[in-house]
Amino acid sequence: MPSLENTSARVILKPGRDKSLKNRHPWVFSGGIAAIEGEFAPGDILPVFAAKGNLLGKGFVNPASQIRVRMLTIGGETVDAGLLERRLGQAQALREQFLPPDTDAYRLVHGEADLLPGLIIDRYGDNWVVQFHALGMARLKPQIVDILKKRFQPNAILDRCETKALTEEGLTPTREVLHGKLPEKVRFRENNLQFYADLLDGQKTGFFLDQRDNRALIGNVAAGKRLLNCFSYTGGFSIYAAVNGASTTSLDISEPAIALAQENFALNGLDAQAHRFITANVFDFLRQPDQEYDVIVLDPPAFVKSKKHIDKGARGYKDINRLAIKQVADGGLVLTCSCSPFVDWHLFQQIVFSAAQEAGRQVQILARPGQPADHPVSIFHPEGEYLKTLLLRVVEA
Ligand code: SAH
Repeated sequence: MPSLENTSARVILKPGRDKSLKNRHPWVFSGGIAAIEGEFAPGDILPVFAAKGNLLGKGFVNPASQIRVRMLTIGGETVDAGLLERRLGQAQALREQFLPPDTDAYRLVHGEADLLPGLIIDRYGDNWVVQFHALGMARLKPQIVDILKKRFQPNAILDRCETKALTEEGLTPTREVLHGKLPEKVRFRENNLQFYADLLDGQKTGFFLDQRDNRALIGNVAAGKRLLNCFSYTGGFSIYAAVNGASTTSLDISEPAIALAQENFALNGLDAQAHRFITANVFDFLRQPDQEYDVIVLDPPAFVKSKKHIDKGARGYKDINRLAIKQVADGGLVLTCSCSPFVDWHLFQQIVFSAAQEAGRQVQILARPGQPADHPVSIFHPEGEYLKTLLLRVVEA
């Protein structure tokens, strides 16, 4: 198999800057580099040498990005299509081992944690969404698409990536069907429930696959109870609870999301008329007095989008948590999430602490789920962790 490397150029690190690579951290920042020698194009795969001259590994180079090199291998292994195929195979094996039965929607590749830096691949039944967050990985698009076609015979592959960080990589937002014909709504199964998702115009890659385990948790603890699902999107948490006899209220600011939530209820044989669907702002809705819920879910979008905006985002998290802790019935549960990578576990718990204090109620933490197994975090790359959840029980003081 032909090598994908550029062997006529090389990256040389400054003295003492090989430590993080030796610790398997996959990023080399611009400040750690002494020189890049030879002819290369942005995105090329180059060998990376320590100052002393020993080969450390190979990675994508991008002179425009602060993350100057993203490592694909540690050591001397050749980077070719075979390596990509092996990594995809390992990623698939992990998912096969850990996914619940009757589930055909999941994240096949979660970037650095699956040793494929900058690459995200989500599966929705026969339809796939790929995201290229790094220039070097984007240049391997044809190889990645070929592997997916060979391995999975997909109906369609959509390339959809719109994050702000793309600009720094020299990439532009994309929304392009790379293969096949994408249906307007794709249908898939999760824990034996059925869902529609709009991969082209929906949020994220169409569905919040990372909340699968939390949805199952709510399906259990909200059985037969009154559930308020804040930031409900297309109804995920509500449907898990409703099939177990809960009466549900789904609340989202997006009208198309609420409309699709109603369709998803029907798809699961549930009578949407028997449940409440509200298009509103959570911050306003939770301020309405005298509501009665046994379980409240708070799964907001990332309120903190950059390090600079931590204070403002933290206020948002505190507000909704205080309001939910106040509203929920005595002995009730609040499942509260933050998907912002800039809010770590410690800060998140501090925010919820302040919220509980201001609400003036007793709060117990019953569980702290993180990311599901199809969104793994490499211990060497903690930057890949973003989802934090606390399951709270609220009792009168
Ligand atoms: N829990 C969902 C995913 C939530 S994503 C699931 O399991 O699928 C976050 C949602 O919050 C989006 O649907 C977005 O439309 C909605 N949203 C953002 N700001 C909001 C606000 N202020 N009030 C209500 N909904 C909001």
